Amino acid sequence: MPAPELAEIAAYASRRAPGPAALAAFTGDLAGALHPDRVTTLEAARLAASRDGAYLSPLLSAVLPDRTADVVVRPTGTGELLTAVRLAHEHGVPVVARGRGTGNYGQAVPLAGGLVVDLTGADRVIEVGDGWIHAEAGATFVALEAAARRRGQEIAMMPTTVGSTIGGFLAGGAGGIGSIEHGWLWDGFVLALDVVTCPPGDAPLRVHGRNCLPYLHAYGVTGIIATATVRLAPARRRTAVLASFPGAAWAQATGAAQAMLRLDPPPRLVSLDDAALVETYPADPKLPSGRLSLRAVVDIDTVSEVTRLITASGGRIESVAEDAIGYVSTLAFNHVTLRARKARPDLCHLQVGGEPLVSDPDAVRACLPGAMLHLDGLRNHLDPADPVRGRGFGGLLLSEFRDARTLYDGVDRLRERGVHVIDPHTWELGGPALPGIRAAAAANDPLGLLNPGKLPAA
Ligand SMILES: Cc1cc2nc3c(=O)[nH]c(=O)nc-3n(C[C@H](O)[C@H](O)[C@H](O)COP(=O)(O)OP(=O)(O)OC[C@H]3O[C@@H](n4cnc5c(N)ncnc54)[C@H](O)[C@@H]3O)c2cc1C
Repeated sequence: MPAPELAEIAAYASRRAPGPAALAAFTGDLAGALHPDRVTTLEAARLAASRDGAYLSPLLSAVLPDRTADVVVRPTGTGELLTAVRLAHEHGVPVVARGRGTGNYGQAVPLAGGLVVDLTGADRVIEVGDGWIHAEAGATFVALEAAARRRGQEIAMMPTTVGSTIGGFLAGGAGGIGSIEHGWLWDGFVLALDVVTCPPGDAPLRVHGRNCLPYLHAYGVTGIIATATVRLAPARRRTAVLASFPGAAWAQATGAAQAMLRLDPPPRLVSLDDAALVETYPADPKLPSGRLSLRAVVDIDTVSEVTRLITASGGRIESVAEDAIGYVSTLAFNHVTLRARKARPDLCHLQVGGEPLVSDPDAVRACLPGAMLHLDGLRNHLDPADPVRGRGFGGLLLSEFRDARTLYDGVDRLRERGVHVIDPHTWELGGPALPGIRAAAAANDPLGLLNPGKLPAA
């Protein structure tokens, strides 16, 4: 498996299309066309707009930090975004869209320099309807959830980085809180998008339903999302349950967690940690030392059944508290990597899935040195006739990082054992959606100016 190479980055740097004079002309035109306050070339601003959550990866953080935007623009709406992209196209300047920069694969790092479009200034919630919300790309999940709740609804699905933007999540994320019931980004969550192509038309391109797919988890190489309409669900009153199991009771804990995934209504979040992983979190009596930690955000009406399932499997309830929902959300998905690496910078993560995580955890852990498992509940196959089918686990494997060779040998061993591994240590797009993304990028960005370096060579 290829690990990111410095030489590859150098190749993008040498393709940095415009020279200093051309960049100066572009910057002047941009500042003239928009309010000058929206455009900056200050070094601190360019550096801040060129970093993302890639620091979670020891491999990416070794090679990415010195790539920096030449200019940053912060449009306040679709009109300014269209103008900025039109000018970038005219001047041949690369364009990288950006939300809050929490993506953790280096997706938002401008490998070829050029223009970074910071969309956090275009953050209006435009309209809330029955089952949907329409917002500008820079709207955060905190704002979206608040707007939905005012109408008795909630976001069907969102990342644990609730301060991140809807545009950044659709272009760079995958799933999270709510995915047990509603699946992933690709599972009907996105109803419509307004997309700015390069060159743009007079107005963004409007796409609906399945035509949104080439823009999802595409890192902005197929177009810049100006607004998005995504699915809402009826709001539920929820609480957070924190429980623990004896350190060796993985089978009992996963059994209880699996039964919780089948509840109606299902939990919004279910997470399970190895006891050794719990030791990396800040001390908390609700995360007792030496024990597995099972945490969930559940419908308030299911608390007694959740308690019964946990205690019948040999677990212990540590706490049930509505005000712990936010805390439990920051002990799920890649927040686990963030917390674990704060305590132990020697750790490195892999995104993993598949039956062996539940049925043969010792064999999975044996694939890498000092490996520890974290599971999150997810729904993998949406079947309207059987809403429970497909509910299972994905997760993280954290192990001691020695070198890339040791890591990728371990990845090979995991795959031989039937573990599905997604490599979080590359900025390149991949997976089954790649042909569709490639075709849309060719049509929407013939000069290849949108986030260069993220679409691998055909
Ligand atoms: C601690 C931690 C926990 C995380 N938990 C989750 C999780 O639970 N689930 C999950 O899916 N992800 C998770 N992530 C990854 C990331 O936080 C989310 O995907 C987040 O929603 C990205 O939003 P952002 O605004 O930060 O996007 P950015 O990081 O700014 O951008 C992400 C990508 O999208 C592109 N982009 C940004 N805006 C646009 C736009 N308007 N149009 C086109 N392209 C655009 C960028 O160029 C980049 O390639 C986590 C990351 C961290 C560090």
